[in-house]
Amino acid sequence: MGTNERWSSIEAIIRQRLDFNELDRRYCAVCGRQGPPLSRCFGCQMVYYCGEEHQAEDWSKEHAQKCTQLEWVALGEFIQALPAQPPLPNIGDKWQTSLKEINNWKSWFSIRTNIVHLANNTANVLKTLVHLTDKRQPTDQNAVDGLLAAVTDLLTNVLTIGKAIVSFGLQPNIRPLVIHILSGFNKIDLVGYNQSSSNLPVRFHELLNMFPDNK
Ligand SMILES: [Zn+2]
Ligand SMILES: [Zn+2]
Repeated sequence: MGTNERWSSIEAIIRQRLDFNELDRRYCAVCGRQGPPLSRCFGCQMVYYCGEEHQAEDWSKEHAQKCTQLEWVALGEFIQALPAQPPLPNIGDKWQTSLKEINNWKSWFSIRTNIVHLANNTANVLKTLVHLTDKRQPTDQNAVDGLLAAVTDLLTNVLTIGKAIVSFGLQPNIRPLVIHILSGFNKIDLVGYNQSSSNLPVRFHELLNMFPDNK
């Protein structure tokens, strides 16, 4: 298969996934009517209405507050529909900041600048694919932030574990801990199944690097 053909089949997969997401939304958000023609909110392009009357009603009732958030949902859906495997950044370096001083994602990114660089570079690629979705073109900053959100979804559950260890006063340097992770990707990682098994060392090292004295 030539590069062009392969690329157009990838585009077809992305379109199919996006269409599939859209199917679940094609009803009036106020009365539930499914029949066409439905109009769509111009802001988020995520919510449908049977007509202007119900659109205006929903806007004054709650949609005005939700519209911007739904734009984020649209961007997240688009990123998830991309079949390419994210090139996970190497995060095997020691932490320059202690876990106690990390309070939020922003301070975590400040010691994981390679992830921010990766998101900045990938944002350009994202923008070249955005014609595949029928949603709004993200701003540069939103594209970067959306990618950071997607990457942290994969990588930062270790940060959550680290914070939990600290806040429960556990001391892995003194007493070894066995951590059972039951949800989503991590479970797959731990049994070494599927392509995401290669994430395990990255996450494992991230956790070890939070507690540098841990032998
Ligand atoms: Zn309606
Ligand atoms: Zn909207």
